Amino acid sequence: MSRKKIIAGNWKMNKTPSEAVELVKTLAPLVQNPEVDVVYCVPAIDIIPVRDAIAGSNVHLGAENVYFEESGAFTGEISPAMLKDAGVEYVIIGHSERRGYFGETDQDINKKLLKLLEHGFNPIVCCGESLEQRESGITMDWINMQIKIAFQGVTADQAKGVVIAYEPIWAIGTGKTATTAQAEEVCKGIRETICGLYDEATAAAIRIQYGGSMNAKNCAELLAEPDIDGGLIGGAALKPDFGTIVKC
Ligand code: PEP
Repeated sequence: MSRKKIIAGNWKMNKTPSEAVELVKTLAPLVQNPEVDVVYCVPAIDIIPVRDAIAGSNVHLGAENVYFEESGAFTGEISPAMLKDAGVEYVIIGHSERRGYFGETDQDINKKLLKLLEHGFNPIVCCGESLEQRESGITMDWINMQIKIAFQGVTADQAKGVVIAYEPIWAIGTGKTATTAQAEEVCKGIRETICGLYDEATAAAIRIQYGGSMNAKNCAELLAEPDIDGGLIGGAALKPDFGTIVKC
């Protein structure tokens, strides 16, 4: 089965609304590629201006987080309905920065995934091991656990529309990319886990990204691997390099 590649930028806590619009304009001529789903996952306050700036283009709108309740006394949080109404299609959940700095658990991520699917979003579920875990040889055990908990209660049909981002924590924002073999090994392992949880058709349909210091130089090799269906891009998403990744 051929899966459409997906290149998503994770802007993190960068760009004021006016800077965000400028960045969209700079990147506009560089990111045109009908063979790829291009997504900008932007800070909450940039969602509306970025939505307006990408209108009519091939770029899809994404958010960096969501809360799993519908509404109520959850100061500072953003509900799925708010994101939907603003035109968001993709939502990153379980990023290692959210897990590490804000204490998000696998159970939270499961609740968020179920809620996003209920509202018809395309979730991007992040997983990944620390350097310590890699060096102890438990990378795949750790990731299997993250995936199994995240997907509890998700049907095979729903799972087919989910994007999984494999992001080794030691490679995020460090300039230290996983080798192509390491990235492919884990992405293939994730596909096998999905096959075990569901079936071959679901495993063949689900898209798995690599993320962790992907850039204009290393993207071609990573994206040529059979189980790497795209990239989740942090630092390079804020530069013209993002266009090179989309084109490669
Ligand atoms: C990320 O934050 O998802 C990421 C992959 O960051 P970077 O590309 O900067 O390593």
